[in-house]
Amino acid sequence: MSAGGRAIARVDLGAIERNCARLAELAPSLCAVVKADAYGHGEVAGAALEGGAGWLAVATAEEARGLREQGIEAPILVMGALTREELRIAEDAGAEVVAWTEEVASAASRVHVKLDTGMGRLGTKDREEALRLAARPNVTGLMTHFATADEPGDDHFPAQLGAFRAFVEAVGRDDLLVHAANSAATLRDPASHFGMVRCGIAVYGMDPFQEDPAVHGLEPALSLHSWVAAVRRFEPGDSAGYGRRWTAREPCWVATVPIGYGDGWRRGLTNACDVLIRGSRHSLVGAVSMDNVTVALGADTDVSVGDEVVLIGRQGEERILAEEVARRLGTINYEITTGLLPRVPREHVR
Ligand SMILES: *Cc1c(COP(=O)(O)O)cnc(C)c1O
Repeated sequence: MSAGGRAIARVDLGAIERNCARLAELAPSLCAVVKADAYGHGEVAGAALEGGAGWLAVATAEEARGLREQGIEAPILVMGALTREELRIAEDAGAEVVAWTEEVASAASRVHVKLDTGMGRLGTKDREEALRLAARPNVTGLMTHFATADEPGDDHFPAQLGAFRAFVEAVGRDDLLVHAANSAATLRDPASHFGMVRCGIAVYGMDPFQEDPAVHGLEPALSLHSWVAAVRRFEPGDSAGYGRRWTAREPCWVATVPIGYGDGWRRGLTNACDVLIRGSRHSLVGAVSMDNVTVALGADTDVSVGDEVVLIGRQGEERILAEEVARRLGTINYEITTGLLPRVPREHVR
């Protein structure tokens, strides 16, 4: 039996701290983005602050309230669009908010004005309106957000950066916190740093460019573990799982591992990823079901019931990155950790 339950996500707070220390030394100030339950990592804001983050950012007012309930006292920026009710919650949490309309800018006590320089999502595209808003006495920051910072060599990023720089100069106030860079921009171009950088993915030790985070001195904080619940003999023609999506060609052994899409281990990984057992890679075979997956162990095996299974992370000399799982699914690492469901307990270790 596994001591930890069927599947567990272990989050190394030391790694979060070290990643923040690394990012904080690149820029004048670091804002750790902890939206969406810290990209699936749970309560890690304290570690981010320990590591040197001076600010926290979230998407929703409810998330800001949650941080205050954890006892976090650091400045918080709520970056998403807010209804009137959500604005009240953000204000009660003492958070600063992002605004691009007169209505929100006049209803909040501390406001960061957002210019849309080419993300095409939130913020005003109207520079004159942004300049008008930026003259308000309750404005404490100016910001924009990049659409293609993770695509080195593209020309949209420098265009956005140029437009934002010109806006900041036109506002001409030196009492404002100016910020634009996400993780990719932070790692890619110091000219995008201004007074603060807003890093999410890099805080968690994942690579915004979908490569090896070690290249940027980042350590993955989250590892995903389960255990071997059964080891069974398969004869040629025996199939594993729904739809018989995999059939043994030769006599072999197959392990059953109690994790599935009900935990966020997506069905798209059917016949399409590896897991680590006893320090070796083994192929996931057959359909990912809601609660279980099956893993081919080969003709001979020393794997036995109770062995640890690593789905993301290290075991022995082997390692599976969230970036690898994302590639297999045709998505990005952000979605892999954020997509782990509440049924997977988060265990915070140091
Ligand atoms: C999520 C988010 C970030 C962080 O982006 P990463 O790529 O995870 O570093 C920064 N700014 C805004 C506005 C965001 O929504």
